[in-house]
Amino acid sequence: MSRTILIENDKAYLDENSGDLIFYRDKKPVTGLIQTPNKLHEINIYNLKLILTDYCNFSCKYCFIEKSIDYMKHSRNMMPWSIAKAGIDLFCDLSFATDYTPKMINLYGGEPLLNKEILKKSVKYIRDIEKTNKINSKIEIVLDTNGSLIDEEIASFLVEHDIVTIVSVDGNRLIHNKVRTYKDGKGTFDDVISGYEKIKNKNGKVVVSCVLSPYNSDNIEYIITYFRYYLNATSVGLNMLHPIHGVNKLPFADSNAKLFQTYKKAYLTAKEKGVYIEHIMRRIRPIVEGRIRYKDCPSYGWRIVIDPSGRISPCEAFFSCGKYTINDVKKYSKAKFKSLFTQWARRYPFELPSCNDCCSNTICGGGCAYNAYVLYGSIMKVDKRTCFVCQELLKWIIKEIYDKLKIKDKLSNKNYYIPTPDEKTFLYGKIPMDNINLSPLYHYSAFCEVK
Ligand code: SF4
Ligand code: SF4
Repeated sequence: MSRTILIENDKAYLDENSGDLIFYRDKKPVTGLIQTPNKLHEINIYNLKLILTDYCNFSCKYCFIEKSIDYMKHSRNMMPWSIAKAGIDLFCDLSFATDYTPKMINLYGGEPLLNKEILKKSVKYIRDIEKTNKINSKIEIVLDTNGSLIDEEIASFLVEHDIVTIVSVDGNRLIHNKVRTYKDGKGTFDDVISGYEKIKNKNGKVVVSCVLSPYNSDNIEYIITYFRYYLNATSVGLNMLHPIHGVNKLPFADSNAKLFQTYKKAYLTAKEKGVYIEHIMRRIRPIVEGRIRYKDCPSYGWRIVIDPSGRISPCEAFFSCGKYTINDVKKYSKAKFKSLFTQWARRYPFELPSCNDCCSNTICGGGCAYNAYVLYGSIMKVDKRTCFVCQELLKWIIKEIYDKLKIKDKLSNKNYYIPTPDEKTFLYGKIPMDNINLSPLYHYSAFCEVK
């Protein structure tokens, strides 16, 4: 893989120093030295994921946590209050020095609403802490839920406490019910949408998260349109499938080439209908704005995850196998924490030798460490599926810019040309960029972008 992308008789690359997209014809322009911000090597905790339970009332066909737990014979638990409180307190201590705002706490599972009383107690405790000097910023509370257990009382609670809810929906009733089912195989769609609408009807903050799989990829244009007009969703996550630990492969998945085509179609639909799709815009927005996106996941030095039994890890996917976890939140060891999290903080392309010559190394952020570990044996290997999609997306977007801005003509009397952010904003179409600060999905992404 070369850093330079060939387009007709011209060339383009994303500059590792400035983040700029630079087109040239003959001689590569000389730019400054690479200046990776030092703080990227440091641990800067701004996000806590509290796994309130690893039980779930669904049995989705692709769930890597559920299937890995079954494989590893990992025992399931409900998080008790003593661990939830210790986790929140530790997060306040660890994140105090981090200047990124807002700080963010995800209430996660399994299905977190199965542990409703601890969830509510945790929320009240967090909101009380905000009024003290234990934390120095607003805390965005995000609930990641399957949506089925949201009744009127919970919906009112979420709105009253200003919680952003992410509900997993994989398509319309027919598509969603093929893959997201209860344990007895019954479809979950009606219960999920009922929960989603209860929050919407109270003007609460709720966004949609969808997993791309062979069950919905052929209909992706329809699904994005459906989210926009039937669910009134303007912020959507479009996740890739994770492999299952123990089985060490993707459970079922489209080819890499088809996955790229699906993301491309989703983006073109989103651009026309006005939907912000985080997993695509985290690549396109840095290209437009000329920003470098160093890390793809907050787990690389910015997040702690605490499981129901009190273990700590940078990434929730490793609890089922016990790798990259330390005990325990009530007997926190600074030395053990530093040793584990420093290793993860250095997992990004500018530290991975195989990324040196890659065209995408200023926008990919290194993909998923868990995918790399399960499929290639180490978190320091690259996540080849994300690599492929990212590289293909970049080449396609650069060609779009080249054609639309008539770069070929511009290079007839200049050695190189750097389009301005304004020139590149045509890539946004009707996507609602003014409101992205409201999106928790945006905060996941923007935490490690540098101009
Ligand atoms: S992780 Fe993959 S896409 Fe990213 S820089 Fe490395 S090789 Fe390129
Ligand atoms: S490393 Fe992968 S599985 Fe772990 S939190 Fe990040 S994206 Fe998710």
